[in-house]
Amino acid sequence: MSSTTNGSKPLLSACGLSKYFPLESGLLASLRGAEAAAVKAVESVSLDVYAGQTLAIVGESGSGKSTLGRLLLRLLQPTAGEVLFNGDNIFAMNRAQLRAFRRQAQIILQDPYASLNPRMRVGQIIREPLDIFREGNMAEREKRVYELLDRVGLASSHARAYPAELSGGQRQRVGIAAALALSPQLIIADEPTSSLDVSVQAQTLNLLSELQRDFNLTYVFITHDLGVVQHFSDRVAVMYLGKIVEEAPTATLFRAPQHPYTQVLFSAIPRPDPSRRVNWELPQGEPPSPLSPPTGCHFHPRCPQAMTACSTVVPRLQAAAPERRVACLLYADAGN
Ligand code: SF4
Repeated sequence: MSSTTNGSKPLLSACGLSKYFPLESGLLASLRGAEAAAVKAVESVSLDVYAGQTLAIVGESGSGKSTLGRLLLRLLQPTAGEVLFNGDNIFAMNRAQLRAFRRQAQIILQDPYASLNPRMRVGQIIREPLDIFREGNMAEREKRVYELLDRVGLASSHARAYPAELSGGQRQRVGIAAALALSPQLIIADEPTSSLDVSVQAQTLNLLSELQRDFNLTYVFITHDLGVVQHFSDRVAVMYLGKIVEEAPTATLFRAPQHPYTQVLFSAIPRPDPSRRVNWELPQGEPPSPLSPPTGCHFHPRCPQAMTACSTVVPRLQAAAPERRVACLLYADAGN
């Protein structure tokens, strides 16, 4: 489990969370006399998210960050591990508990073009969660829709529009309004700005910041954009091939990244213009396939600081300093 940031209990905790996608049946594997082949999309991830804060999960495509986001919302069943929300394991919840959790935890998706039903008017889209959870009567739901439109910076006339009549930024605001409808505590935002123009991205991020401040929202922000991470998150977890390789407060990580993977990524950030969008500058070579990850440290074929032991010893994610965890043999204690 990661360290606490403020002495309080986390709102959300993942403990030893893994998700493997099987590539063959167990029967086939037993006939071969071998373990069933599987993609290990998420492997032994533990992290904490505190109320009112933002945890950014960053990684290249294929790092497992979106799968992790879906596990945190119980949109996928894990292969192993648990997720605690306010202390309750979301995978052991009964129907009533799960319904309460679904009110409290929402998702904003990357692509506002694909995530909104094109045949529904904006007002219906925002009202849908209120209908599903039977919040108030119809007049109260309608009133709430107009409040939400106003809160995300859309006009009341937008309620009658179809998604195709809106710009990309406006559609993402509709997605945000729908996510806010049930007054959740937690929002998982999966690349919420990556399909938007740079200027619209900044407006959307400002809106998300305001909403967090006004409603004490807790965000898990899944992104590959380090500019977004730097200006939006309190803490950062860096993923590589299904595992967290480094986790630290955002300012600490940007000032002095410790894991060689994080160092290479962050060295590419153009300074001193912090408003400029920053994309991944990938370490040498393509990331290995999650189908057959390298032995030992998964990063060793690309690591500029690799040692002989790195190809055989799996580094554990462990405290390298207060508030910081690193999975690298350069920082390992004797027990690693
Ligand atoms: Fe590099 Fe070895 Fe550390 Fe992996 S364990 S990041 S290969 S130095």
